[in-house]
Amino acid sequence: MNATLSSAEKNPIIYQNYRKLPADMFMESNPTPSSAPTLIDLNNNLLEQLDVDSTWFRSEQGISILSGSTINADNPPIVMAYSAHQFGQWVPLLGDGRAHMLGQIETSDGTKIDIQLKGSGRTQFSRAGDGRATLGSVLREYLVSEAMAGLNIPTTRSLAVLGTGNNVIRGRAFPGAILVRTATSHLRIGSFEYAITRLGDDGVKSLTDYIITQNFPELESSPSKYLELFGEIIKRQASLISQWMLVGFIHGVMNTDNTSIVGETIDYGPCAFMDEFNPAKVFSSIDHNGRYAWDQQPSIAYWNLSMLANILLPLFDANKERAVDKAKEQLEMFDLVFRDAFEKGMHKKLGLSDISKESEQFISDTLTNLTKENIDFTIFFDRITRVANKDDRADTQLLELFTNQQTGKTWFEQWRNYRAESTTSFISMRHANPIIIARNHRVEQAIDAATDHNDFEPFRRLSRVLANPFEINPADRELETPPQPKEIVLQTYCGT
Ligand code: AMP
Ligand code: MG
Repeated sequence: MNATLSSAEKNPIIYQNYRKLPADMFMESNPTPSSAPTLIDLNNNLLEQLDVDSTWFRSEQGISILSGSTINADNPPIVMAYSAHQFGQWVPLLGDGRAHMLGQIETSDGTKIDIQLKGSGRTQFSRAGDGRATLGSVLREYLVSEAMAGLNIPTTRSLAVLGTGNNVIRGRAFPGAILVRTATSHLRIGSFEYAITRLGDDGVKSLTDYIITQNFPELESSPSKYLELFGEIIKRQASLISQWMLVGFIHGVMNTDNTSIVGETIDYGPCAFMDEFNPAKVFSSIDHNGRYAWDQQPSIAYWNLSMLANILLPLFDANKERAVDKAKEQLEMFDLVFRDAFEKGMHKKLGLSDISKESEQFISDTLTNLTKENIDFTIFFDRITRVANKDDRADTQLLELFTNQQTGKTWFEQWRNYRAESTTSFISMRHANPIIIARNHRVEQAIDAATDHNDFEPFRRLSRVLANPFEINPADRELETPPQPKEIVLQTYCGT
């Protein structure tokens, strides 16, 4: 049984905007109380950025609510229904199977931010699952999502980690934990797929009006607001995917239920940053056909957006043909925005300001060289940034990355020529080329220390360094190194 908060007690989670959605889209659901809740980590950086006071989050009441033990009877938690195309297959009913939406807090500028618990017990949508999360999967999402935020890439954020005191069985017993996740919205393409299936066009219209009011109020008075919303969703996805690719990120489960309407990275399951560059790289243990490989991500995002287009058509135009034409016109924008962002991003990474056919070819050749030479993506761009800064021995260290010295020297020569004609500064290169990413083996080491030895120091250290990936203290440089052969993580898993 959950304890309940009396109305006299103040807590900052006072909104529950999703109650404005059609009634079939959500249900009340109580988290499972934790047997021995502990606050393992509170993300003070995030609270500072949101300009929200941290006192409540550390208080007894705060911990009791965030660990699912106490609920606010005046604003009960809900779970949301959604459908999905998972790996291209239609799944009519998914929904929050291990997450509870507590509601929203308000930041000092009036923005409402979702506070959701993940790993907080079974819900009406759990199917055969236990509704739980292991400490390891929670720390993984924390580290990778906060690394993403450090890289200035839109993402859900990790606000806190709580130990539940309960064990979670995944082959063996693991400590259970809850991640407190924040987002600008938790609505996904899958929410629209659910609305059309269960509620038809009226349901879709209500859902679309809701999202405009909550997250795109600037569109509200426009006569073509639905089409403009779709355009904005497309632009955000195209820009997001380009940003992922520019830092070597592979999401791994780009299903429609994991495609956020507001363009934030969501669902850190089998995702990973790659070490050695390989455009066909896949980590996810269940992605056998390379559907979500690094270089497949734009076409998959486009496919997901086409699913959304089908659902929104009646809102674009009463005439079906005209509606289809309008949707197509918007969808065509995806490729343009993606290519533009990716090309500009690559130019910045290489320190080239002038975009030409030749410089585009040079980028393509650079990526081919990295693949052939098995060069670490992050280290390569970090070293050229050091060359641009005229650091000691940087030239030698760059060439050392190439097995074939002649390939290296030829590439270096060409790069110097392109650089000479360009004006992009070292500072701009530095902002495009992180020194550190959330490397799988480092994430695993932090998880193992916490899970097996109750030692959270490696987790804290890694999250501190990842928060500012464009600078590094000499003492932390070892966190930057690629894995030794025995440290290589070959596969990553969903929902563990
Ligand atoms: P994901 O692959 O994390 O996007 O999850 C797909 C679906 O499975 C979502 O509806 C989740 O809520 C659900 N799910 C994942 N893990 C669990 C679990 N341990 N218990 C119940 N539902 C789960
Ligand atoms: Mg998901």
